[in-house]
Amino acid sequence: MIQPVAVIGAGPFGLSTAAHLRARGIPVRVFGEPMVSWRDHMPEGMLLKSTPVASNIDAPRRGHTLVDYCDAAGIHRLVTDEDIIPVETFQAYGEWFQQQQVPELERTRVVSVDRRTGGDFELKLDSGELFTARAVVVATGLSGLAHVPRELAGAAADGPAPTAPLSHSSQHHELTRFCGKDLLVVGAGQSALETAALAAEAGARVRVVARGRGQVSFGAPPWRQPKLRPESPFGRAWSLWALSYYPHPYRYLPAQARHYLVRRVLGPLGAWWLRDRFEGAVRVREVSRIVGASATDVGAALTVRTHAGRTEELTADHVIAATGYRVDIAAMDFLGHELRTELAVSRGAPKLGAGYVSSVPGLYFTGLPAAASYGPVMRFVCGTEFASPRLAKHLAAAHG
Ligand SMILES: Cc1cc2nc3c(=O)[nH]c(=O)nc-3n(C[C@H](O)[C@H](O)[C@H](O)COP(=O)(O)OP(=O)(O)OC[C@H]3O[C@@H](n4cnc5c(N)ncnc54)[C@H](O)[C@@H]3O)c2cc1C
Repeated sequence: MIQPVAVIGAGPFGLSTAAHLRARGIPVRVFGEPMVSWRDHMPEGMLLKSTPVASNIDAPRRGHTLVDYCDAAGIHRLVTDEDIIPVETFQAYGEWFQQQQVPELERTRVVSVDRRTGGDFELKLDSGELFTARAVVVATGLSGLAHVPRELAGAAADGPAPTAPLSHSSQHHELTRFCGKDLLVVGAGQSALETAALAAEAGARVRVVARGRGQVSFGAPPWRQPKLRPESPFGRAWSLWALSYYPHPYRYLPAQARHYLVRRVLGPLGAWWLRDRFEGAVRVREVSRIVGASATDVGAALTVRTHAGRTEELTADHVIAATGYRVDIAAMDFLGHELRTELAVSRGAPKLGAGYVSSVPGLYFTGLPAAASYGPVMRFVCGTEFASPRLAKHLAAAHG
């Protein structure tokens, strides 16, 4: 019997990879909850920062873009850079893509992946089923990688949670629970600024705590983007253009440069359309650094060092750490201990070669875990256009 390829993950990257593998006639089993990051781990009412042209889930055939979905669903076509995509629309697009391209998706969790002698993989599912796969694609995206900096941990002794004094932004879908409350949001990226604006609109008194000076800023609207620079899905700039369309040489850069670029390129910057909703509704507190955090009788307190060198305490009913995600193979506990030990990693991220294969033959990574090898474009949906056909081609040649 031909062993299937297992794709773990049913977000944009898992679905796109599975569609490309199927189109090559490779038997696949695909696992995961479709679009769960967008449905449960992003705030209701959120708008996407990426433009419509940068929000397509790549498919092997025409007819599966966001515009195709809008036509099929009979909704307003999202086409220009000024059309803003509601998260609910994008989630529905992903589910439509799944029904069209990956109808056999199994909505179950993979509990463990281990390597067998001979090079195949043994997978165990939530249902208790054991099966053998000839190759495995890890497309688990943001799952389990939410990052809370050590200095904030003191406010959540039992771990961050919406019911604890401190939570991570990924733990919120509904922000109405903060109506009438004092809220501190730590961070200066789009997630922090949009969470803060949505919470303020829901009736909370919100302060954003940003580390550094001038960290809270917003991008230029499409009509003010410089015309003489090349267009990319993220705006007009040579660096963005190169990183979007030519990620091939990225993995040959020195490790320090690669990790720096993943963090800084397309880093903290609010979307142009958020400025009006944010300014006036949310206060910003710029600090030199956050020294620590603790739980209080009514909520949480942050101890901060000001730019003037003083130590102050900021208190609130709750603190949301909008502090992003960090790839760490050690946190992917469904990968067996031996596999994780065998994998070549660089600062916690798997080192990938051509075609997104890891140092373990037959084990592939795509999406966020591939960003340290293929650049910041892998953090965004448009990265599927580069990644999925190349991964499928490599896998077909090596294991087809
Ligand atoms: C607040 C926020 C806003 C964002 N806005 C944008 C935007 O505007 N534009 C953009 O391009 N990107 C945006 N992103 C980034 C975006 O989330 C990622 O690019 C995208 O979701 C990554 O897709 P993915 O398929 O890799 O993973 P995810 O979408 O995270 O999907 C992970 C999948 O893995 C499955 N899974 C996990 N573990 C297991 C397991 N053990 N067994 C089986 N299945 C498993 C889950 O069920 C899920 O199906 C945003 C991110 C955040 C946090």
